[in-house]
Amino acid sequence: MEKEIPEPGPFEALCSPVAVLPCTSDVHSAHFRNAWPNRILGHEGVGRVEKVGAMVTDIHVGDIVAVPAVTPIWRGRQIAEGLHEHTGGFLGGRYLSSKLDGTFGEYFIIPDADMNLAVVPNGVSIKAAGLVGDMVTTGFSGVEGANIQFGDTVVVIGIGPVGLMSVAGAAIRGAGRLIAVGHRELTKELAKKYGATDVVDYKDGDIVAQIMELTNNEKVDRVIIAGGTESTINDAYRMVKCGGNISNVAGYDFSKEFHLTVADAGCLVNHVTLTGRLCAGGRYRLENLMALIKNGRLDPTLLITHELHGFDKIEDGFRMMDERKTPDTIKPIVII
Ligand code: NDP
Ligand code: ZN
Repeated sequence: MEKEIPEPGPFEALCSPVAVLPCTSDVHSAHFRNAWPNRILGHEGVGRVEKVGAMVTDIHVGDIVAVPAVTPIWRGRQIAEGLHEHTGGFLGGRYLSSKLDGTFGEYFIIPDADMNLAVVPNGVSIKAAGLVGDMVTTGFSGVEGANIQFGDTVVVIGIGPVGLMSVAGAAIRGAGRLIAVGHRELTKELAKKYGATDVVDYKDGDIVAQIMELTNNEKVDRVIIAGGTESTINDAYRMVKCGGNISNVAGYDFSKEFHLTVADAGCLVNHVTLTGRLCAGGRYRLENLMALIKNGRLDPTLLITHELHGFDKIEDGFRMMDERKTPDTIKPIVII
């Protein structure tokens, strides 16, 4: 669609896309949500700063910047509460492709540019920078919710790009035994590269039984959910020990329901902590994640299975994510 080039407000930046990555969430938005009609999709990528508002001080025209999926205005009550992801209400920190047009346009606005954009440092590739704003930060948010202690047995359920980054993050956080649950050969291989000690295939039967066999019936310390179905939460409760953690970052279809039985949930007196998070956003977060990459602790680029070139290939990239016709698609990138 054709739109006017937007004018940045005092604290905003106007960017053009350098590279964009289609996401599972773009597919969900396109299929299930029409709360924002005629909205341009896209919330992942790297941009070039084209214009800045009068109050922007740290970001300059020409900067190449990593774009976070969550770009709140860093003012207001939820910021004071430490909940930047949900400023102004549920999902409120997500502006791109909802309250504002997203990264799949020739130009896009970033609110609160000094607080949200992270200049890509030397030693971090465009591809790696494109992955930090959602895939890395979401996978790592799952890890943060799981309260991992050194040597813990950690299970990551779902090893698409997000879950693979949870595997990588759990390894960095000191997991002992690290069990990844997936199906496709490519993702299982990558899980091992990112630090999984064991891999379980959810198509080989009940994953709880498979994991209990691996651990000699000992329940696990932490479970991160980054894929699966509405009943994966039940599996997580059935495999986690008393006092353990379940941390969800997977998205679900709003029309579905969870059916948590009292028995599976340990009567809710088992001291298990269940939490769920939207990916952390903003400049500080992305600068820290890029420090891990720059210093050789993390290489997210193994996630990129397809590289397309040119603005007019964004739709092809989106269709790749949507249709997943090939078993070898993890994450496409479109270099503009
Ligand atoms: P993918 O669809 O690429 O990955 C999901 C993975 O789950 C796949 O690898 C799939 O394995 C696996 N899976 C499917 N069914 C099962 C099952 N029954 N048991 C175990 N694993 C299963 O998605 P992404 O990695 O891109 O994203 C993961 C989730 O995170 C999505 O739900 C997405 O919406 C959500 N998300 C949440 C964000 C947040 O802020 N909280 C931000 C971004 C994404 P296989 O392919 O081998 O079949
Ligand atoms: Zn995304």
